[in-house]
Amino acid sequence: MERQAIIDLSAIANNIRHLREICAPARFMAVVKADAYGHGAVQVARTALAAGANWLGTAHVSEALALRAAGIEAPLLAWLHTPATDFTAAVEQEIDLGCSGWELDHIVAAARELQRPARVHLKIDTGLGRNGCSRSDWPALVAAAMDHQRQGLLRVVGVFSHLAVADEPHRHETDEQLERFREAVAVAEEAGAELEVRHIANTPATMSRPDSHFDMVRVGLGIYGLSPFADRTSAQLGLVPAMTLQTQMALCKDVPAGQGVSYGLNYATAAATTLGLVPLGYADGIPRVATGGPVRVNGTTYPVVGRIAMDQMVIDLGPDARAGFTEPGSGVHAGTALGATAELFGNGHDGGPLVEEWAAAAGTINYEIVTRISGRVPRSYIGGTL
Ligand SMILES: *Cc1c(COP(=O)(O)O)cnc(C)c1O
Repeated sequence: MERQAIIDLSAIANNIRHLREICAPARFMAVVKADAYGHGAVQVARTALAAGANWLGTAHVSEALALRAAGIEAPLLAWLHTPATDFTAAVEQEIDLGCSGWELDHIVAAARELQRPARVHLKIDTGLGRNGCSRSDWPALVAAAMDHQRQGLLRVVGVFSHLAVADEPHRHETDEQLERFREAVAVAEEAGAELEVRHIANTPATMSRPDSHFDMVRVGLGIYGLSPFADRTSAQLGLVPAMTLQTQMALCKDVPAGQGVSYGLNYATAAATTLGLVPLGYADGIPRVATGGPVRVNGTTYPVVGRIAMDQMVIDLGPDARAGFTEPGSGVHAGTALGATAELFGNGHDGGPLVEEWAAAAGTINYEIVTRISGRVPRSYIGGTL
């Protein structure tokens, strides 16, 4: 197999069915921002809808427009905007818009231009301190939006918020956020809003806080089969990781003791051994700091030694790998590992390495590892009918 990220669409479909059972009767938004966390937005969106997702969510309008351009007609929400966002295209393409405050005028202008009401989900900051309307400004935002609604320029169809610490289910701040959310919803409903969807739950809240489900959950990480909890694995949550990252070994080379490896020569072989070259690096999205990350070759998992470079990284296959055909004099042998599949992470079912091991090696979280796999790595799809 060449360098590729293999995306198992049946794993994504099964993860969604599992998560839908947990959140029912709430509706299910599949979050496919950032190219579906690196898995391919259009393919994942189609799979998600076929598996019962009711809504799709993206951060940017541009991401939502790309889904519409691919012919996807499902309800679609985009929530992160700048003054340069193309609100007119969004309204024209029937993309629901998150609104924290300043966007309202832009959205109304787009609706006026198109002579068509925009669909808006008002966002309240219940404690995350990022996007969303502050609690003090909320009554004024609701009043302004309802004014526009009465003039036929928009429809307030949702109220939503985002949680800060749902991945740590014991923390009290989630209770406070949910209480503030209920208050904000009440303000909107008292002002006359007839809400289709009230939504605040992300993956960890969907799995640990049934009282956060309201009318809809917004699930990203879980549909890709990854655990949002530091102390729970995918398997423990009934999820299957959907992305396998693999390549072929590009070179195997016998070296003597004391051979330095990669830029900086931070690693030196302790004894005569065989080094294996893995043709993936930071241009492919493997964090440069992730020395020690696992690579499985022929059923054995080896840690990356030395620095990860732009295009490649090295594993020490050990003295036993020397068995096999050796080209006379060259020190290069093809007998064992050249061309063998090198797997960096996969679904873990056969004991192979996991995304979380790469996250630990890089000092980050599983979200970042899959999302940053770059466009240089071709995606291939299995398990679906797409
Ligand atoms: C990314 C995002 C989500 C999904 O979060 P997960 O933890 O991946 O489920 C939900 N809502 C908003 C607003 C987001 O930005």
